[in-house]
Amino acid sequence: MSEPPIHSSLQHNGRPLSTNYYYPNKMGRIVLLAFEEVMGTHGVNALLNLAQLQHLIDNYPPNNLEPGFPFGELSRLQQALDEMYGARGGRGLGLRAGRATWKHALAEFAPVLGIADLASRALPLNIKLKIGLDVFAETFNKFTDQRVRLGEDERGYLWIIERCPVCWQRASTSPCCHLAIGLLEKSLDWVSRGRRFRVEEVSCIAMGAPTCTLVISKNPVG
Ligand SMILES: [Zn+2]
Repeated sequence: MSEPPIHSSLQHNGRPLSTNYYYPNKMGRIVLLAFEEVMGTHGVNALLNLAQLQHLIDNYPPNNLEPGFPFGELSRLQQALDEMYGARGGRGLGLRAGRATWKHALAEFAPVLGIADLASRALPLNIKLKIGLDVFAETFNKFTDQRVRLGEDERGYLWIIERCPVCWQRASTSPCCHLAIGLLEKSLDWVSRGRRFRVEEVSCIAMGAPTCTLVISKNPVG
């Protein structure tokens, strides 16, 4: 089965991209470092050019918690990735960048949050998973304008993004928050000490849904 093409636009023709919502500079910096790891310096510069984010070339946001990285810039990065590499290639690179984001995020935020030892605590896996998800969601809610709540249904644990920077003001015919999936996959990998959980985006705001919802398998698949 072939993937449906992504017809996306930033919908910024005629009106400015919103600058109301932000990631802290630190998070913007981390994401750009992750893209650099995955694509190399030339790749990330080409991406920033295509996304019309030239001001970030060789000039990543500083490593502080000031809210300086607009949601629109993150979604433009993800969109430029799809334009450069096609929907399938963009998806793969977005996932990889999300996974690469994790270790930087862990180094920056785990000590602050007091969860550096969570992975090694002697707790049942499902409890650790729930604590981890709780802390990760709280991290976004506390340090960024992204809004995440947790849920659970017969499909698994739900990571429900109510305000999503990855697809901010995009329109897409398929779920497009690959960066969020990659990041969540790696965070679960960490908290479970190397188990793999299936993470799937089942609804996306860019497709008209009210939330970007990621379903996490309750049991590890690897
Ligand atoms: Zn989204």
